[in-house]
Parts: sequence; structure tokens; C-alpha cells
Amino acid sequence: MIETQNLSRKFVSGKTALDALIDVNLEVEEGELVALVGPSGSGKSTLLNLIGGLDYPTEGSIFINKKDISLYRDKELSAYRNSKVGFIFQEFNLEPFLTVKKNILLPSYFSQNGKNRGEMEKEADKLIEEVELSAKKHNKVYELSGGQKQRTAIARAFINRPKIVLADEPTGNLDKESSQKIIELLKEVSEDKLVIMVTHSFDHVKAYATRRIRLFDGEISEDKVLKAQPERSVTPSTLTDGMRFKEQLYLAFKNLISAPKRLGLMIAISLFIVGIFSLAYGSYVQASSMPNQ
Ligand code: ADP
Ligand code: MG
Repeated sequence: MIETQNLSRKFVSGKTALDALIDVNLEVEEGELVALVGPSGSGKSTLLNLIGGLDYPTEGSIFINKKDISLYRDKELSAYRNSKVGFIFQEFNLEPFLTVKKNILLPSYFSQNGKNRGEMEKEADKLIEEVELSAKKHNKVYELSGGQKQRTAIARAFINRPKIVLADEPTGNLDKESSQKIIELLKEVSEDKLVIMVTHSFDHVKAYATRRIRLFDGEISEDKVLKAQPERSVTPSTLTDGMRFKEQLYLAFKNLISAPKRLGLMIAISLFIVGIFSLAYGSYVQASSMPNQ
């Protein structure tokens, strides 16, 4: 799903140049939960920003489903970001004076997902339930605790049903218990998605990560598969890309009319069955209405 080729990012200021990322080559797929680790300043956020289309590389390519986003112009890149990527930042980046629900809805104003306001509001309500914030829905974000803010940020990252979720130290400001809960929640809601999570404490994600990638001075120093990707869930959560009933119905109908032969056969069989029943019923009515002799 994502492939980087010799991805490099150099920051130049005045006469000094800093290689934040040097020749990074990696391939990651849907369903993986990648723990991105490494010391402070090793390039983790830089890599995440490049993958998420928030920044351009100085050299190299980033292929998302075989398309090189490093060649995209600003407009295309923001379209990619809005439709495919959900971000969770360490500092939450929430709007403190807006309510929980308005914060969650924010990214949906910038994406063209074809859904109207009412549908998006319903989607937001579902997400709010899943992150257990119903009681705080209409509270302003500045009134929340750290863990509640982080859950708001998670719900916001999922509002456009992104395929890629990028989390930059999502538990950095939380105590151990809250961060455990956040990681469990992330794991639960991100089935079928690709999650890349920067973490300063691998211990917190050990139980969930499928892969560990370590950066050191801008280079990959370790890339280790930890466990096989999980099986697909049978009961999709609202936050996953599971189809809702309406969509399923629509698809079923579309399939039906796109298969004219099958449709014709089904109509013929139905008419035949209806015909037999009408005949049988007709003769029954006739027989029972005859006077007994
Ligand atoms: P990490 O997230 O692993 O702590 P970063 O990716 O933020 O590391 O940074 C990698 C290196 O790039 C650091 O030395 C940092 O100072 C530098 N850097 C990051 N962003 C910028 C920027 N916008 N301008 C200049 N230097 C930057
Ligand atoms: Mg960082």
C-alpha cells in the first residue's frame, strides 16, 4: 500500500543543512500496526509527515497504491490527505473553544466524500459513542482531561474513514493506564487499516504492534516483523470500512441489475411460482364455491 524509495529530507537553514531522513526504503501494507521508534531527533515525525502528505521530500519517492505522491501538487496532495489519511498528533491539535463534536467534524468539512451534513453528524455521533465520549459531546475541548482529548483526536482522525492512520506519540502526554486504553482503542478501531504509530515507549504497544521500525539519525536501523497480520474481523466496527446496511443493499441491487441473464432467470422462476400458486388457489376457490350435491 505504501512504498518509499530512497526517501530523503534535508532541512537547510542558512549555511547549515541537516539530513533528517536519509534513503529510507520501506513497504507497509493495510492491516499492519507499525511501531515507529527511535531517539528524539531521529526523523520519526519527518517520516510521518512525508507519508501523510504534509511535507515534500528533498529526494526519493513515496508511492501510495503505486502513485507517487511526491510528484503531486499542493491541491492533489491535500486531496490525498483529506481522503486517505487520519492524523493523531501528540499535542492533539484540537480547537479548544469548539465542542468535542465540532472538533470531530472538522476534517469532514474539507473532504469531498459525497456525504451531506446530516450523514456526517450521524457518523460523528457513532464515533463519539465508540470512543465513549457521549457525555462530553457538547463540552468544549478545553474542559476535557488529557485522555478525553486524546479520544476526541482519535475520533476526529477516523471521521473521513481513512485507510491510513498516522499517530505521532499519541500517548505521549498520558499516564500508563490511559495510554494503554488509547492503544487498545486504536487497535480496535483500525482493523483493515494501516496504522503507523510513533512511540517513545515500545513497551506500551508491544502487545499490539505487528512490526517495529527503528530510526537512528534519519536512517532505518531496524525493521522487524513481530507478528502476522490479524485476521479480518467478521463484525466490522463503525470506525472500520465495513459497509453499512444501506451500502450493502445498494451494491446487491447494483449487482442484480448488472447481471441481466440472472435477473431474467429469476423473474421467470418467480412468475412460474406465482402462476402455479394462482392456478392452485383459483381451482381451490372454484371447488369450494361449488354447491354440495
Ligand atoms: P523525531 O520526531 O524523531 O524526534 P524529527 O523528525 O522531528 O525527529 O526531526 C528530525 C531532525 O530534523 C531533527 O534534528 C530536527 O531538529 C530536524 N527538523 C525537523 N523539522 C525541521 C524543520 N522544519 N526545520 C529544520 N529542522 C527540522
Ligand atoms: Mg517527533
